[in-house]
Amino acid sequence: MEHRFSKTISLKGTCPMKGIVYKSTGSWYVVKAADGSFWNARLRGSFKIDGLTSTNPVVVGDEVDIEIEDQLQGAAIIFNIFSRRNHVNRQSPQSRMQQHIIAANVDQSLLMASLKNPKISQGFIDRFLVTAQVYHVPAILVLNKSDIYGNKETGIYHRWKAMYESIGNKVILISVATAEGLPDLKPLLNNKVTLVSGPSGVGKSSFINAVFPSKHLKTQEVSNWSGKGLHTTSSSEMYDLPEGGQLIDTPGIREFGLVNISRQELSHYFPEMRDLLQDCQFNDCLHLQEPGCAIKKALEEGKIYGDRYISYRKILETIDDHAHD
Ligand code: GDP
Ligand code: ZN
Repeated sequence: MEHRFSKTISLKGTCPMKGIVYKSTGSWYVVKAADGSFWNARLRGSFKIDGLTSTNPVVVGDEVDIEIEDQLQGAAIIFNIFSRRNHVNRQSPQSRMQQHIIAANVDQSLLMASLKNPKISQGFIDRFLVTAQVYHVPAILVLNKSDIYGNKETGIYHRWKAMYESIGNKVILISVATAEGLPDLKPLLNNKVTLVSGPSGVGKSSFINAVFPSKHLKTQEVSNWSGKGLHTTSSSEMYDLPEGGQLIDTPGIREFGLVNISRQELSHYFPEMRDLLQDCQFNDCLHLQEPGCAIKKALEEGKIYGDRYISYRKILETIDDHAHD
């Protein structure tokens, strides 16, 4: 109440501060300033980022400069955006060609999945990992709901753990319901900015609620998201982890956007293939039926997992090299 009479004091134009965008709705933003204070911020004018005019020029994770507009109302203006270390897209529900940036300056991505209710397909994981490779964002695979796994699911978990860890992706088994595995996962999140993605129903909101009990995320609302893309207003949001680091929650986003890569490039994003490519007889080898193929040889020798090669073939079939001519 004591602030009531001082409300007319304008601090406009004072105290420029550096900050990080914690939430973006598309028209306004929540920015955490370097001193730990939070501000509701608007953009000044229109920005061009990386030479592109975008419908969402500022995203969660962006580093910005803000200027306080109204201290008492916590209002600020974003007047500068720093260049990004990286960014992650999602595909626009309206158009395959239109990409929409969901987060910037991400250290790693966490794919949450489950082997039961709902069961993830290996194809989904492998497409996700290809995209993460394209973005140069390391990926952790988290398998939730271990409390309802039987022998079959436990067997798949052990196979996948060996397979994915051999190509550099950590695999962690957890149950949000029983807290099993959470102590294994938490250290991997320390002091990193982690983007959380995954199909709906796997327990992402339950997980975030468990890590941040005070957030009261609307689990119901998120899990009811149809995935059909009618609602594009769901906004990404970043949360500070108690032990340092941040999680970025991307409600309604089950998969990264497809990245425009050519058929020729695809094997470069399979880490177990990458180092062998120079040994193929033909340098435009697609590792199908070509003679002298180092990938097929490694497959026969058991140095490449057959299931990963199958995913490679399936993804290859979906790439249309002429789509972007
Ligand atoms: P989201 O769509 O990925 O955000 O998933 P939700 O957090 O909404 O969870 C979907 C359903 O899975 C809810 O009914 C949760 O109660 C349930 N669930 C979440 N974690 C677990 C778990 O560890 N074990 C079991 N059995 N169910 C879980
Ligand atoms: Zn080859």
